[in-house]
Amino acid sequence: MTDENKDNIELIKKAARSILKDEIKHLQLVPSVAIKLLKLTNDDNARIEHLSLIIETEPVLAAKILKQVNSAAYALPNKITSINRAVTMLGFSIVRQLAINLLLYNKLIQQNSKRAFDLLFFWQHCLYVASLSRRIAVALKYPDPDLVYTGGLLHDIGKLVLETYGRVTYSDFICSTDKSGHSSIEEERRFFGVTHAEMGHIFCLEWQLPASISAIVAFHHNQPVETSPYAKYKTEIAIVSFANYIAWIQGIGSATHDSHSKLQSAVLETIDIDQLDLEALLQQVDQDMKITREFYDIQLPGLTTLRATLVKATINLSQIEDKPFAPVDTSSRKLSSCLTAPHHSLNPDDFIPRTLEAIQGEFSFDRSIMFTIDPKRRCLIASYCWPESTLPIKLQPFEIDISGISGLLLTCLREKKPVIINTKIERDNPIIKHLNTTEFLAVPVLHHNRLIGVLYTDNSLSKKPMQAQLLPEIMPIAYELGIAIFNAKQYEQQKKHAQIDHLTQLFNKRMVNNFLTEIFQGDESKLANIAVGFVDIDKFKLFNDTCGHQAGDDALKIVADILRSLTRPGDFIGRYGGEEFLFVLRNTDEKGAYGYAERIRSEIERRGKIMSQRFHGHLLTVSIGVSMYSADYTNYKDMIEAADQAMYRAKNEGRNRIVMLSNVAADKK
Ligand code: GH3
Ligand code: MG
Ligand code: MG
Repeated sequence: MTDENKDNIELIKKAARSILKDEIKHLQLVPSVAIKLLKLTNDDNARIEHLSLIIETEPVLAAKILKQVNSAAYALPNKITSINRAVTMLGFSIVRQLAINLLLYNKLIQQNSKRAFDLLFFWQHCLYVASLSRRIAVALKYPDPDLVYTGGLLHDIGKLVLETYGRVTYSDFICSTDKSGHSSIEEERRFFGVTHAEMGHIFCLEWQLPASISAIVAFHHNQPVETSPYAKYKTEIAIVSFANYIAWIQGIGSATHDSHSKLQSAVLETIDIDQLDLEALLQQVDQDMKITREFYDIQLPGLTTLRATLVKATINLSQIEDKPFAPVDTSSRKLSSCLTAPHHSLNPDDFIPRTLEAIQGEFSFDRSIMFTIDPKRRCLIASYCWPESTLPIKLQPFEIDISGISGLLLTCLREKKPVIINTKIERDNPIIKHLNTTEFLAVPVLHHNRLIGVLYTDNSLSKKPMQAQLLPEIMPIAYELGIAIFNAKQYEQQKKHAQIDHLTQLFNKRMVNNFLTEIFQGDESKLANIAVGFVDIDKFKLFNDTCGHQAGDDALKIVADILRSLTRPGDFIGRYGGEEFLFVLRNTDEKGAYGYAERIRSEIERRGKIMSQRFHGHLLTVSIGVSMYSADYTNYKDMIEAADQAMYRAKNEGRNRIVMLSNVAADKK
């Protein structure tokens, strides 16, 4: 551990001591049996015997585990009476997980009282994050899913420490921030002197939990710096952070007051979420949670209720930020599926039709349409319709030019107010004409008071009149849609962020690999005309030493610009490493690939000459190695390796040149 890290921990420990009523090592927050189980890692030698021994020392725990093993859920042929057998039958990981869950749960329930920090709610969050983390780990083929399960279970343990042993408690904190609706990490630090992540970290250190778990607890809100001893647990941290974010999006935050949990792009850079089928994962986790509820024989709040809490929290938030609608008292009102449907996933193609369907189910409108706004073309686009068949084919895609809108609909867009429009009021309304109706209801869909769409409903078939009292019922749904669409956009943006190299704005190494993987999985006939090339800047270390790092960065951007400008759409270019770029050309032959490489080489040389004054006389040149596809390459890595070797030959032969692997004669400059 570096001195800086040590100093930092001493400071946090000091702050922790002054906020807690007792020394951390005296805190009986987690039973000592649970601590023993937490330290028992998957690869311990005598793991099964150890685990059995620990469980057997706690009779209540042993009884509960045996009851569970013999329950219908596992459908074992014979009754099991020994813990050792239970562990052998069910597997180490499941039994340990059941035991830890149970111990923590008992502790929590004993303490549960109706305080602002709802421990049952908190517990559900921890279980959800644990379960989702494990599912993500399995999907990503991460080798130790148990570890991230435990990390997920404990990630917010600092909140529990503060709630149970703080001179001021987490409940006090929540009450103090309730008015603002925000409870950011910074606010925690101002309130307690430490954040929940820091407090959790100190707890892990005092109880000597494995470093991997400490890392998750300490850094689930921000990734560790490269020099941190925890930097090697980046993947574990990223998995739990991502699960935490998704839990929040699903309305299963650790407390009902939580403000937006942010998704860090560092998380998406570390794990490849494109590999994840989020919808399937969420369904599996819902199933996991159902089993967990049964295990405790207790009614934890159902997931729909939990998601409804998100709705409540976001509506509270809206009152502070936007005040777009009159406050909605969600506590007195049954939260319908219409309000929770928008938060069902992060994919608008899933949650928007689902919401329209829920609206139809609840209000029996004949037709609901979600219009989105295209700000560039200034038009409303009928993006989603429910039932899908009710939008006349000839109107698809149906667009309305905003500049042609007048009357009440314009009021709806401008003043962000819901309206009911019918032929008595506006005979010439363009939507009435296009959609062949006599009356419709239009509610603006906003985020941060900015218009992002319009929710439309009508009774064009039944001709049932639209009641004005429906408006306050529909407005909160439109509001939720606004938040969900914003969340989905943000998620897409962060995903994109994680695919792009920040300095050059080219695709990063992960995307290069993804692109090539896809090509190699595709049609074999197309592979024959593929070329892969490495472009490496010559003597770039010297360049940095002579001209400075900033000039080095500028040179990298120049090379990236040249590569971008000379690469055809459909071909691919990315930054593969520090001063290495990789291109993939399709539908090319050796001559074509060489021509492309030569254009790049000569253009970089030319630009470098022009800039040589600024670069202290240092020339900017590149060496390029190209491999053409051959049937010997069984996967894309072989092809990259070949291009890399060709590039090294270009270096050895004097730099600022091209080596084509399969045609050495082409090597000339
Ligand atoms: P060669 O011609 O054999 O390729 O020599 P080289 O100096 O280019 O190769 P080497 O791999 O020794 O050094 C690569 C250098 O690239 C070292 C590193 O400082 C620099 N580099 C890598 N990434 C960046 C970056 O993002 N910005 C800057 N300014 N320099 C970088
Ligand atoms: Mg947290
Ligand atoms: Mg180099």
